[in-house]
Amino acid sequence: MPAADSPEISVVVPVYNEADNLRPLRERLVPVLDRLTDRWEVVFVNDGSRDGTLAGLRQINGEDGRFRAVSLSRNFGKEIAIAAGIDHARGQAVVIMDADLQHPPATIAEFVAKWREGYVMVYGQRTDRNGESALKRAFARAFYRLFDSFGETPLPEGAGDFRLIDRQGVDALRAMGERARFSKGLYAWIGYPSIGVPFIVEDRLFGQTKWSFGKLFRFAFDGIASFSTVPLKVSTYLGFLISAISILTALYFFLRTLFFGSDLPGFPSIIVSVMFFSGIQLISLGVIGSYVGRIFAEVKRRPLYLVGERIGAAPPPPLPRERDERAGGPA
Ligand code: UDP
Ligand code: MG
Repeated sequence: MPAADSPEISVVVPVYNEADNLRPLRERLVPVLDRLTDRWEVVFVNDGSRDGTLAGLRQINGEDGRFRAVSLSRNFGKEIAIAAGIDHARGQAVVIMDADLQHPPATIAEFVAKWREGYVMVYGQRTDRNGESALKRAFARAFYRLFDSFGETPLPEGAGDFRLIDRQGVDALRAMGERARFSKGLYAWIGYPSIGVPFIVEDRLFGQTKWSFGKLFRFAFDGIASFSTVPLKVSTYLGFLISAISILTALYFFLRTLFFGSDLPGFPSIIVSVMFFSGIQLISLGVIGSYVGRIFAEVKRRPLYLVGERIGAAPPPPLPRERDERAGGPA
């Protein structure tokens, strides 16, 4: 049973240089949450901001103790910031949202309604990608298609980080200590009854997006490599295919020389094949290398993040599984 003073709903908000957005967000969150429950909290995760965000968080906590914050020691990226947030959230339901008001606070009421019906995971599904360039949209679509065709874990289209997760799902997520965190995949992987709620992405209130194209591309590759070993197999298939082609080519040249004699010194074909095969080998090595790198990152078992300061937030409670082990219960 949850303690009487523990919140029913926690809202986790990763913030990176969002000083101007804090107040408008707070003003729009309070009425929505007040209508839903009288026990709620908002957990901001300051992801190494370099503007006035940390000072703003301190001030807001001073004015309203239900707004707490965890400040990380540096910028760890949004995925890790979310992990830190759900570690520190104590609610029975945890809502994850962006600070820039692209995720409309009013939708939280719909999330909570579905949660009260018994869903463990309620995800916001964006109905349009208006504020984004056509190129970004095309890449997003291609990524979802690729992920699904490779994937052992299909992703619901248009579902992002804006979602509500029941305590059961939160504890499952917290138990996954992966360093390369592709949350969208983790959310889908844990299963449980899930449902989408459509919402319209609004324009960013202040500041700029922190996602450059390069960052998005790395993120996409991270996602695929964390959830699929297909890229490792691709080089094998490619290897077979190319070997078959080269045998056929060799046969063709052999017969041609036999019947018509040799008229070429053979230089171009040698150069072309050497280049082609070195290319394939480098690609395969790169793919293997990126998986080895991932193994390296995981075996180091570093903590996911370091907390610099907690503002009104308690250290994270232990996971249920750890509690069981201490109690000496069966595995
Ligand atoms: N964010 C973060 N760490 C980062 C980058 C972003 O915590 O390194 C936060 C950011 O403050 C915002 C959310 O993640 O609350 C979404 O970021 P952004 O709006 O830049 O992404 P977009 O909406 O363009 O996908
Ligand atoms: Mg945004």
